[in-house]
Amino acid sequence: MPDIIRLLPDSIANQIAAGEVVQRPASVVKELMENSIDAKATSIRLIIKEAGRILIQVIDDGSGMSETDARMSLERHATSKIRSAEDLFTLRTMGFRGEALASIAAVSQFEMKTRQAQNELGTLLVVEGSDVKRQEPTACEKGTSISVKNLFYNIPARRNFLKSNPVEMRHILEEFQRIALAHPELSFSLIQGDEIIYDLTPGKLSQRVVALFGKSYQEQLASCQEETDLMKVTGYIGKPESARKTRGEQFIFVNNRFVRNNYLNHAITSAYESLLQENSFPFYVLFLEIDPKRIDVNVHPTKTEIKFDDERAVYAVVKSSVRLALGSHNLTPALDYSSDVNLVSKMGHAPALSREQYLEEQLGSSLQRSNLQNWEKLFEEERPAQSRLFTQTSDMPSVRMESSINRTDIPEVVEEKFVFQFQLRFLIRPVKNGLMVIDQQSAHERILFEKFLAKMQRHSGSSLQSLFPQTVSLSAADFALVMEMEREIKALGFQFDVFGKNTLVVTGMPAETAGKNEKELFEGLVEQFKQNQSSLSLPLADNLARSLAKRASIKAGQKLSPEEVGSLVEGLLSCRNPNYSPEGNTTFFILETSKIENYFK
Ligand code: ADP
Ligand code: MG
Repeated sequence: MPDIIRLLPDSIANQIAAGEVVQRPASVVKELMENSIDAKATSIRLIIKEAGRILIQVIDDGSGMSETDARMSLERHATSKIRSAEDLFTLRTMGFRGEALASIAAVSQFEMKTRQAQNELGTLLVVEGSDVKRQEPTACEKGTSISVKNLFYNIPARRNFLKSNPVEMRHILEEFQRIALAHPELSFSLIQGDEIIYDLTPGKLSQRVVALFGKSYQEQLASCQEETDLMKVTGYIGKPESARKTRGEQFIFVNNRFVRNNYLNHAITSAYESLLQENSFPFYVLFLEIDPKRIDVNVHPTKTEIKFDDERAVYAVVKSSVRLALGSHNLTPALDYSSDVNLVSKMGHAPALSREQYLEEQLGSSLQRSNLQNWEKLFEEERPAQSRLFTQTSDMPSVRMESSINRTDIPEVVEEKFVFQFQLRFLIRPVKNGLMVIDQQSAHERILFEKFLAKMQRHSGSSLQSLFPQTVSLSAADFALVMEMEREIKALGFQFDVFGKNTLVVTGMPAETAGKNEKELFEGLVEQFKQNQSSLSLPLADNLARSLAKRASIKAGQKLSPEEVGSLVEGLLSCRNPNYSPEGNTTFFILETSKIENYFK
């Protein structure tokens, strides 16, 4: 028997590799644009004809290639970006596999013009299905221009598999947007047919978002910034009220590389807690910076999947940073478009927490820390005496200490005489940049909700003994429901015993609900719980806390004493998420001085 194993010719090996790397026109766009970025281009132009079927051209002003490199770049596993396996763990470039150009040239009619700055003449290369047809010196601009014509011309099956033009174009747009978002410092343009779709000038991330997705985004962005020993998070999230019903623009970048990661998606959306309506999706564009040693990007040829060595810690940091952003965005009503969050060097001086501190503290205290700093900004001009206290806190290394200072000192900040009730619905409080207007009902719901949730987490609710215990008769179904949740309801602070068939005797109720009628409140809780259950899918504790908060809260139209007004403002200020009621209604806004001034112009 003769030997039968032989090496495949390169052209076939390349075609096979292309099956993985080049799935559709958008894959070519991605690979070429990433190469331009790796080549330090400052301006990248993308030209598309027929959704990429006829032409995909990328023109950059990057480093260009020498004559030999131009030829070499088409060999499989030819790369200038890594030299050894170790380099894989310190990657800073987008490419590294050295198979993109070889693969693309194997399945298209490929033309490259490239020139390095120091050379007068550049190189022209014409390749068809891996076959080099021409290589010659040519006059061309500094940088590289690659045209990919008639993609899959030699693999009819693949060509037939392409989707309709709108679908392929959407994929191209997505790739373009990802790359343009990751590099707001570069200019990009996209020309489709004769139409200029995008012409993006260098700028800040916020400007890039608006340039890509539209002016309406200007009002919707909340800036997100957090830094820990493990990683750094920067970017923007959409305010909850701007969330869409369809999964729209959601971008996560790790070390500037776009990634898909459901686990991180979950971290982000769960940080919104109950602020999102069901089946709505928030906008986000978040950049995670992490030591390349702690991630593995070599999981998939197209490199959008990624592995973290400590997924859970990453999850916690991401979630906390989104919480922080949600908790503070209302305090800076108009986003400061002059500060650039995408430049990591301008990250500010947020004290770094160790990963352990993070996990230990979970999310709450760091939120309070940041909220405190924001409140500080809000009040500082008005109450200069407080500033010493706050400067101290921001220098303190320990989160725990800060949060305890936070809690005990806020009452001093809020003096009753500064707050008044208006129209039996609103509380008005002068602050640094205007007037803070609080909706008393939504605010109280928020305060109670957080208190009740905390009680259930501790499994101990302070309870007030009733002077005259009342009996509550329920339907069989409701009775069963209450018995199922007995432990949780008692943790809220209710005390009750079974008293005959489907009947309870309520002997105590949550301290926060003093003054309410036990029977009404208990029945109201059950009713509200059921209502929520049918319209929302909430965890049990969330639903209970929410239901009771709704039923026990101060209502619009209720006259409040000065003490009540004071403690309401104070309570809201201590909330982890003071901006919204648990149902997502706004709890307060700030009527800016400048707006007031406008009335008098
Ligand atoms: P990789 O990007 O993984 O290294 P590619 O096949 O995409 O592999 O590219 C091969 C090599 O060609 C790159 O390592 C780089 O040296 C060179 N190259 C590709 N595109 C460009 C470009 N636009 N400008 C300069 N050099 C380029
Ligand atoms: Mg590449």
